[in-house]
Amino acid sequence: MLMTGAQYIESLRKMKTRVYMFGELVENWVDHPIIRPSIDCVAMTYDLAHDPEYADLMTATSNLTGETVNRFCHLHQSTDDLRKKVKMQRLLGQKTASCFQRCVGMDAFNAVFSTTYEIDQKYGTAYHENFKNFMIEVQNNDWIVDGAMTDPKGDRGLAPSAQRDPDLFMHIVERREDGIVVCGAKAHQTGTINSPWHIIMPTQAMREEDADYAVSFATPSDADGIYMIYGRQSCDTRKLEEGADLDLGNQKFGGQEALVVFDHVFIPNKYIFMAGEFDFAGMMVERFAGYHRQSYGGCKVGVGDVLIGAAALAAEYNGAQKASHIKDKLIEMIHLNETLYCCGIACSAEGYPTAAGNYQIDLLLANVCKQNVTRFPYDITRLAEDIAGGLMVTMPSQADFKSDVVCGKNGETVAEICDKFFSGSPACTTEERMRVLRLIENMCLGSAAVGYRTESLHGAGSPQAQRIMIQRQGNLAAKKELAKAICGITK
Ligand SMILES: Cc1cc2nc3c(=O)[nH]c(=O)nc-3n(C[C@H](O)[C@H](O)[C@H](O)COP(=O)(O)OP(=O)(O)OC[C@H]3O[C@@H](n4cnc5c(N)ncnc54)[C@H](O)[C@@H]3O)c2cc1C
Repeated sequence: MLMTGAQYIESLRKMKTRVYMFGELVENWVDHPIIRPSIDCVAMTYDLAHDPEYADLMTATSNLTGETVNRFCHLHQSTDDLRKKVKMQRLLGQKTASCFQRCVGMDAFNAVFSTTYEIDQKYGTAYHENFKNFMIEVQNNDWIVDGAMTDPKGDRGLAPSAQRDPDLFMHIVERREDGIVVCGAKAHQTGTINSPWHIIMPTQAMREEDADYAVSFATPSDADGIYMIYGRQSCDTRKLEEGADLDLGNQKFGGQEALVVFDHVFIPNKYIFMAGEFDFAGMMVERFAGYHRQSYGGCKVGVGDVLIGAAALAAEYNGAQKASHIKDKLIEMIHLNETLYCCGIACSAEGYPTAAGNYQIDLLLANVCKQNVTRFPYDITRLAEDIAGGLMVTMPSQADFKSDVVCGKNGETVAEICDKFFSGSPACTTEERMRVLRLIENMCLGSAAVGYRTESLHGAGSPQAQRIMIQRQGNLAAKKELAKAICGITK
C-alpha cells in the first residue's frame, strides 16, 4: 500500500510515542508547532509517490512481494535503482529545502538485509528470514523507519564494555527464550519521533569483550521503555510565534533529531537481526555508512539547488545580478553542488550485487562523496551569505514589518520605515526581498542549517571516518606498482 501524506500524518496519531521537549512531556506532538514542519517534510516522501510525474523515481517493484512500493522502502536491485535513489533524494531536497528524514531507514534496510544473510551463512542463525519478514511488514505498511546507529559513546577513547556507564552504548542486558532485553540510547536520531518503527544497529566494529553490544533489531517506537528527548535547533522558537510567517524563512518544512532512550526494552526473537555476532558489527556499520554517504550526494544537492536559487534571487533583488563577480560566484556554487551529485551518481553506477542479492554502492566513491559533502556545503553557504549581504542577519522582525506604531515625525509607522529603508531593486517588493533573505538565513544559520551544514559534516560519520575508509579502499600498493612500471623499477 502506498500511503498519502495525509494518511501518514493520521497514522502517527495512533502512536503512543513518548516525547519530551523543554523539560516537559509533549501530549499532542503531531500538532506541536516546532515538530509539525518535520512531519510535513516526511509527508512529502509519501505525496510525491502519488504524483505520476515522479512515479519512476519515487516507487519501485518489491523483490519480496512483487508489489509497487515507495522507493524509501525498497531493497536496491540494480545500479539503476541506486541512481534513482540519489535522484529521488535530490528531488526531495529541492521540494523541502530540509532534511526529509526517511533516508536513514532506507539505508539501514539495505545494510541489514545483506549483513544478516552473511551472518546466517557463517553461524546458521535465522536473522535474514527475520529481516525479510520485517521488510514485508515495512513495505506493506509503507513505514518510515528510523535507522538508529549512533550511540552516545561516552569517553571516545574507551571500548563499549570499558565505559563507566554501560548504557553509553546499546547493549543486551538479558537473554530470554523468547527474545532479548536491551538498555542504552541512540543520539542525534533523525526523524525518530516521526517514525513508527526503529532499526537499531551497532555504532562501530566490536571485539569479543563487547559481544553484548553487537546488537541489531527492530522495534515499534512506542514500545514499553522507549522515550525521546527532542533536540532543539537554532531559531526553533520562532515557530511558536503568533502568525509565524516571514521570519521562518522556510514556510512549511523542517528537520528533526532527538535522543532515543531504551530503558529495559524487550525485543521478541522475530525482530532480532544480530545478538552477539561481534565479528559482523563492522560489516553492518560499513555498509550502512556507505549507503548513507551515497545519500548525501542526493539530498544535500537538492537543498543546495534551493540555496543557489535563493542567492540568485537575492542578487536580483539587490540589483547586483549583472556584476561579473556575482555571476562567477553563482557558477562556483553550481560547480560545487554538481560535483557532489557526480559523486552520488558515480558511486551508484559502480555498485555491485551483495551475496544476499541487493545492490551495494562503490565504497571508495561513496566515501569520497561524503568527504566532499563535509566541505562544499560550507563553501556554498559562504558564497550565499556573500551575495545576500548583511541584512540576512540584521533585519528587523516580521512584527516590525507589520507594526502600525508611529515612529516618524510625519506619522510614519515602524512598518512604513522598514519598507522604505529595506527596499531593493524595483524587481521586488521589500517583503519579497526580506522573504528570500530569511530563507538564506534559515539554510545557512537557522534550523535548516542543522541538515545542510552540521549534518553534512557529522551525519553518516565525521570526516575522519571517511578518510579511514579512503585509506583502506584507495589501494596504494597497486598505485605504487603503476609508478614502478612507468619509471622502470623492477623489484
Ligand atoms: C544533524 C545530524 C543528524 C544525524 N542523524 C543520525 C541518524 O539519523 N542516525 C544515526 O544513527 N546517527 C545520526 N547522526 C549521528 C552522526 O552519525 C554522528 O554525529 C557522527 O557519527 C559523529 O559522532 P558524534 O556526533 O558522537 O561525534 P564524535 O564521535 O564525538 O566526534 C567528534 C570529533 O571527535 C573525533 N573522534 C571521535 N572519536 C574518536 C576517537 N576514538 N579517536 C579519534 N578521534 C575521535 C571525530 O573524528 C570528530 O572529529 C546525526 C548527526 C547529525 C549532526
